[in-house]
Amino acid sequence: MNIFSGLKDILGQINKIDGSIYLHGKDFADVYAKNIALEEEIAQRTKELEQANQTILTLNSVWNMMNSSQPLENMLDNIVKILHEDMGYNFVTILKLENEKNDEPYLSIKSISEDRYFNEALDYIKTNISEYKIPYIEDSFIGKALKEQIIYSTTDIKSTIKLLFPQLIEEQIEKMMKEITSQSCAIVPLKNNNNNFGCVIIASNRAEITDTENNFLTLFANQIELAVTVADLFEEVKKQAITDPLTGLFNRRYFEENIIKEAERSLRLNQPFSLISMDLDYLKRINDTYGHQFGDIAIKTIANVLKKEARSIDIPARIGGEEFNLLLPGVDTNGALIAAERIRKSIENQVIDTIGGITASIGVATFLKHSDRIDELTELADQAMYKAKLNGRNQVQIASSKSQYDWQQTAIDTFFDILSKKLIPVSDEVSKTIFQKLNKVKIDNKNSEETLFSITDIISQIYNRKYKEGTTKSKLALAEMLARKLELPEIEIDKLRLAILLYDIGNTMIPDEIFNKKEPLTQEEKEIIKTHPVIAAREILKPISKIQDIIPIIESHHENWDGNGYPNQKTGADIPITSQIVLLVDSFFAMSQDRPYRNAYNTDEIIDIIKSESGTRWNSKLVDDFVYVLKNERDINLR
Ligand code: GH3
Ligand code: MG
Repeated sequence: MNIFSGLKDILGQINKIDGSIYLHGKDFADVYAKNIALEEEIAQRTKELEQANQTILTLNSVWNMMNSSQPLENMLDNIVKILHEDMGYNFVTILKLENEKNDEPYLSIKSISEDRYFNEALDYIKTNISEYKIPYIEDSFIGKALKEQIIYSTTDIKSTIKLLFPQLIEEQIEKMMKEITSQSCAIVPLKNNNNNFGCVIIASNRAEITDTENNFLTLFANQIELAVTVADLFEEVKKQAITDPLTGLFNRRYFEENIIKEAERSLRLNQPFSLISMDLDYLKRINDTYGHQFGDIAIKTIANVLKKEARSIDIPARIGGEEFNLLLPGVDTNGALIAAERIRKSIENQVIDTIGGITASIGVATFLKHSDRIDELTELADQAMYKAKLNGRNQVQIASSKSQYDWQQTAIDTFFDILSKKLIPVSDEVSKTIFQKLNKVKIDNKNSEETLFSITDIISQIYNRKYKEGTTKSKLALAEMLARKLELPEIEIDKLRLAILLYDIGNTMIPDEIFNKKEPLTQEEKEIIKTHPVIAAREILKPISKIQDIIPIIESHHENWDGNGYPNQKTGADIPITSQIVLLVDSFFAMSQDRPYRNAYNTDEIIDIIKSESGTRWNSKLVDDFVYVLKNERDINLR
């Protein structure tokens, strides 16, 4: 301890001086008085040195804290603790100046030492620390300390109490004053990034805040400011990692992390949660008409509605450009529907400069009810949202449960069987490619949809060299949309998917010189081509037990509503609706591609052609829905 050895030195010197005075026989009383003065001086110096030492230790602990990346709350609690316990102040609190846009500025209590009087006062005005708002009065001494950035000290304890609790009645304050031992207070202003952060208020037993103490408080405040800035920065960085910059909503990553946690909790407690999936209607039109910045405003408007309508435990997130999700912990389908409808209405009621109004389409799905898997739940909520779009937008739709039928697995098994039993003529090379893809799906155990599309594309290229990659995917998308518009049960949609993958597989058995013939086909050749549904059904797929219920769909996929189709000249409702969808989708894609004898038609021309055969070749209700889907989905990549 340098300080104390220093002191010993001083004491030694005094003794020496004392001795020499005595030796020289000076006036004894004089020596005695000098002695007392010196001792007092030493005591005072010792105290100052001790205080300085304590100051250094205190500043050091704030410094250490700063490097520990603690959350702001912990940091402030620690600062209060140091001042209260180590520096011995009676009462310490850190107040933050809250300057919200639409609110009068006020001071919130960020941290406070345990204090009986303060608690009693809060009880008296029936509030608690976290909710208490201290009115911020600019020409009070708190206001002055903050504005002028000076430490303000006062012995006027009573006024300080009145500033902190303007609601207390005189009698109450008098009662407090009788018990409180503090003699003085200091308001120490705090800055954060050059803004007023707030202040520290301390109360001391001593009547005077000395210069030394003042210096210490100034130094200490500087350290707190640094600590607060650092902690704030950490928090900002943390916040940025989980929020979407445009809207301030949570981002996709945060949402995905939390839906996993919620699903775990839900499974453990057997308690549902709901997912709301939402998409802004006609954003493209807003962008095109008014410009991108108005599109952004529309997106922000929706985000604000979500923020306003969400409970504090809900998780509103921006998932993509104009796609939002809201996670509602503990909420069942009925509750989620009420919330979704409230949100829909609120969006509809927003008035936006220049654009006017906006609407959104919303899907609702509930964990445990519609699915107990997250990926499936998300997909179901999206599908419900899609249904809302197809039904005319600006509405809420509930998810329908996933059927237990695993169409993808069935398709994988079917392709395996077709190849390993050599049910279609395939070159070794193609066979190898397909097997590789199938094996990869088995290993990855995900994303089989894309692989299935790709395999179907490859098989289609066996007989039709012009078959474009990606066509199967587009066909399926269109077929699905139509099926949803028709509100087919999920199990029928699954069968439809399998049918889309397999319906033309009979073409692999048609001789190449007929299928790819440049000249017009003879009647005989046409008849051969017409056998493909039957070949698919009766030769290729018959031995595969898993897909027996798909075979009738495929066999009938060239029957016409009026009985002029093939192979069985079925009519009307005798033709499975799924077969009718397959034929319509197939015709659409056939017409939208070039043929040796004609150019491709555009969507409007195709619609006209199909409409001209409505009621004869096609079921007219089906045509109406098909046209509706096409018009509503102009933007989807159909070719
Ligand atoms: P629908 O009612 O079917 O949802 O129609 P839509 O036009 O809203 O949907 P579509 O998916 O056809 O188009 C979405 C558009 O949103 C395309 C894209 O450029 C735009 N978009 C995506 N993110 C943003 C964004 O952050 N700001 C703006 N202004 N536009 C965006
Ligand atoms: Mg949209």
